[in-house]
Amino acid sequence: SAEKEVSPVTEDRRTKRSITPRSQDFNAWYLDVIANAELADYGPVRGTMVIRPYGYAIWEAIQDYLNVKFKETGHSNMYFPQFIPYSFIEKEASHVEGFSPELALVTIGGGKELEEKLVVRPTSETIVNHMFTQWIHSYRDLPLMVNQWANVTRWEMRTKPFIRTLEFLWQEGHTAHATLEEAEEEIDASELQALQMIDVYTKFAYEEAAIPVIVGRKSKVETFAGASKTYTIEAMMGDRKALQAGTSHNLGQNFSRAFETQFTDENGQRQHVWQTSWAISTRFVGGIIMTHGDDTGLLLPPKIAPIQWRAGGQRGYGEGWLVVDVSAFEGFTVNILEEDLNLAGVIKHLVALDDVGVVNVAEDLDFAVDLAADGVLVVAVYHLEGVESGRRAVEDLVDGATTAAPDPVHSLQVIIVPIWKKDDEKTGVIDAALSVKEVLKTAGIKVKIDDSDQRTPGWKYNFWEMKGIPLRIEIGPRDVSSGSVVISRRDVPGKQGKVFGISMEASVLVAYVKDKLNEIQSSLLDRATSFRDRYLLITNTYYVPLSNIVDVNSYDELKAAISEGKWARGPWSASDKDELRVKEETGATIRCFPFEQPEGRNKACLMTGNPAEEVAIFAKSY
Ligand code: AMP
Repeated sequence: SAEKEVSPVTEDRRTKRSITPRSQDFNAWYLDVIANAELADYGPVRGTMVIRPYGYAIWEAIQDYLNVKFKETGHSNMYFPQFIPYSFIEKEASHVEGFSPELALVTIGGGKELEEKLVVRPTSETIVNHMFTQWIHSYRDLPLMVNQWANVTRWEMRTKPFIRTLEFLWQEGHTAHATLEEAEEEIDASELQALQMIDVYTKFAYEEAAIPVIVGRKSKVETFAGASKTYTIEAMMGDRKALQAGTSHNLGQNFSRAFETQFTDENGQRQHVWQTSWAISTRFVGGIIMTHGDDTGLLLPPKIAPIQWRAGGQRGYGEGWLVVDVSAFEGFTVNILEEDLNLAGVIKHLVALDDVGVVNVAEDLDFAVDLAADGVLVVAVYHLEGVESGRRAVEDLVDGATTAAPDPVHSLQVIIVPIWKKDDEKTGVIDAALSVKEVLKTAGIKVKIDDSDQRTPGWKYNFWEMKGIPLRIEIGPRDVSSGSVVISRRDVPGKQGKVFGISMEASVLVAYVKDKLNEIQSSLLDRATSFRDRYLLITNTYYVPLSNIVDVNSYDELKAAISEGKWARGPWSASDKDELRVKEETGATIRCFPFEQPEGRNKACLMTGNPAEEVAIFAKSY
């Protein structure tokens, strides 16, 4: 079989693989994966992190997805300064109380003591409100819905790469609304908005990151400093600790009252705006590692492999198509091919943007050239015929457009490993690998060939498995003569994950690879879900729950579940003091009151026996 063949390099320079087994020491395993897969490194200042290209690509995949979703839901990107006058932070009482211990302050600038010390933003509600107060005058200015991609600084005591760092990257959304008038239901507009955004995060977690999350509301104790309500998505990591993976806050009028952010309503009355803020950070990258990774290393859900494209005011480069922005657009008919999902998604997004039209350069090159000559073309989407010709066409079209793409570092869906023994075999397998790559690339699949002759195929297998690439294609001389390839799944180890004799014929291969990528995507979600919620089926109707979430009805049961390392779910209506006592005595906190409440549950609070309207989920967390 292809697997047994070795490259001309006799000396196997396989690096020492030093990933601690996950079951032995989860923390050491996590740090080993980060180091070996070159995701991040420690910065010179305690608690800071350098995100390396391979780790950053995962963050970019998160950004690419969310950025589109934010725009689809009506938000615009913008940027606020990082330095905030200290007096701003003090304006909202609970905000300053919550954030004080974590603030980094600047007291000297340009060698001089500053008149007012500056806060390095830990979050931007205060400066956002300061600006919103100047921009919002009447109900016509509402809703105001923005997002920024930025770094924030929180002087954390306990740190861990990606999960909790002093400085981290995130997006923070900030919105201001008039209430009720905008809302269809009898619910504050800010409440609707906070729920809508936690829903965006939930879909992202399930559908892209293959991470099952529990959505719910934070307890008062755990609510964001300054918010009326905090919604959260909570994920169970491989060591069963909880990870707060994203939050959405209904700020009510707390900040608008502190900053006098008011508008004149339709009746001429002055009112305070209703607000939200919501964020997902680089912590999510840690969540992906800790959910799917195994003893071999990283395991990436196929959809997290980023689709490289940019739109809206930038020149960009994509797989098989190009997007070019020319600002002088005046509008013309949209003419598109919708045969590729990725392309369709891109086009949908472009069309949704104001003042953007799309023309199919492949079909209408002459028309496009005419338009460009008139200075009216905004976006050219080039597809199908190959990147090179597309690039040239667009560069011809648009004065000064540079579309050359450097070879980007990105996560991959497929790695091709060509295998040869003798030199006269090399040309054949490399040629076959190149044509397989072209076929997959044209179909929008992220693919790369590892054709270095410095490493053996065995070394390469290990390397790309450790990097988490979902699929591997092996092509040896025998495969070339039979016109087929060998395909291995990263999520199914050894022989079971290996399939021989998949035809190289474009339509067969593309269909097979797409199918397998989908299968891996859903099997990762299934696996993580059954890890959390599993049960042992005895007969079709009788099963023993082995779930890592245990239903509890008393404090003793809660303590037992937590000490076994599980999550405890039980009716709760006790005081904040009781909640803090649980934390002190067990190390567990309320992760959330889940939206999905179990049926037929006990109605008596597990702590006090008083009536309890909801169950809460307790767990130890990161
Ligand atoms: P918050 O503003 O506290 O609601 O946090 C917003 C998001 O950032 C949440 O999803 C947190 O999980 C994440 N987050 C909070 N602190 C950190 C940190 N020190 N490092 C990385 N992510 C963080």
